[in-house]
Amino acid sequence: MSAPILPGATIGIVGGGQLGRLTGMAARAMGYDVHVLDPDPACAARAIASRTVTAPYGDIAAVEDFASRVHVVTLEIEQVPSEALAAAAMHAPVHPAVAAVHTVQDRARQKSWLASHGFPVGLMRVVTSAHECADAVRALAPCIVKSTMGGYDGRGQVRVHDREGGAQAFTRIGAPCCVVEQFLDIATEISVMTARRAGGQMASFAPSLNHHDDGILTWSVAPAPVDAHRTREAVELAQSITDRLGIVGLLAVELFITADGRLLVNETAPRPHNTFHQTERGASVSQFEQLVRAVCDLPLETPTTLVPAAIHNLLGDCWTNGEPDFTRAWAMPGVRVHLYGKPGARPGRKMGHLSAVADTSEHARDLVRAAYATLIA
Ligand code: ATP
Ligand code: MG
Repeated sequence: MSAPILPGATIGIVGGGQLGRLTGMAARAMGYDVHVLDPDPACAARAIASRTVTAPYGDIAAVEDFASRVHVVTLEIEQVPSEALAAAAMHAPVHPAVAAVHTVQDRARQKSWLASHGFPVGLMRVVTSAHECADAVRALAPCIVKSTMGGYDGRGQVRVHDREGGAQAFTRIGAPCCVVEQFLDIATEISVMTARRAGGQMASFAPSLNHHDDGILTWSVAPAPVDAHRTREAVELAQSITDRLGIVGLLAVELFITADGRLLVNETAPRPHNTFHQTERGASVSQFEQLVRAVCDLPLETPTTLVPAAIHNLLGDCWTNGEPDFTRAWAMPGVRVHLYGKPGARPGRKMGHLSAVADTSEHARDLVRAAYATLIA
């Protein structure tokens, strides 16, 4: 077994968005140095990295050179070509490993893997032409057609009700392959975050309850106010997926609880996740520190909830009339404002989040929503 990677070493993070930035800040607090690779020279993590490489994720030579100067490579984005990760792995351990990232990074591959390994997913079909898409929609309607690569925050997704809509959606998305999912009657959305070390030790955070608008996360709160049996079921399901994928690092599992009581996997992500930002406030360890522990093979903290905590995303839409006025939010007891230092605010772009802690999950959710309301009033 290899030795743990101790503070003083350098962690290379592929992807310099807010997830890379927040992971890097946790790593720095623990005593590690941080390098970042991102195609955007003005990426959010630049400010916290001692070295930032500006290169596309598929630039094999750049990724290899990046890996040769760090002690371990991790990622904040799964859309990294396998060839690049494999090249990096010749120079430093890459966690999670290329095979796991490859399985998860394509929606069709991921969904097919989940289904073939017996994990519960909604009805779906993988299609590669407008005609196939039309047929799938006729069989499963109503549906959501989703692109298989590169979609996030509900992008590359179209809701359709009939055959004709299915064909149009495929053309509109313009990808060679799509997943057609039956539109589910969802009662609740939750997610589970699990960390896993190379030796197999795993630890999960209390599930979050998540609220989306237009396919994008609006707010999230933990612990999710669902009963103990459901919580256990969700955590066991998430851990079994994490273990089966052989993840070293983090795996977020997004789950649907349907109106008829089924627990189904929506999708997974092998990295920190927007629905666990609240762990910085309410849990005994943050998802970011836990990631560092996992990839450096330090003992994992068994996360406990210290206090219920919620987050509310701040999208670029809040910047339409310039920088929002945070004065009232800052003044609210229990509320904090987290900004990612991104230079250009665009509608739908995640610019930061608000967090709030309170005595119950419901109160934390209400408080963070009230804080948000002060920004848009
Ligand atoms: P993100 O990056 O925010 O996780 P994404 O673009 O990967 O989003 P999904 O997670 O697949 O997209 O879907 C976003 C949201 O759309 C879900 O959280 C859910 O609210 C809704 N949704 C997705 N699939 C279905 C479905 N089959 N039936 C009903 N609602 C769905
Ligand atoms: Mg999702």
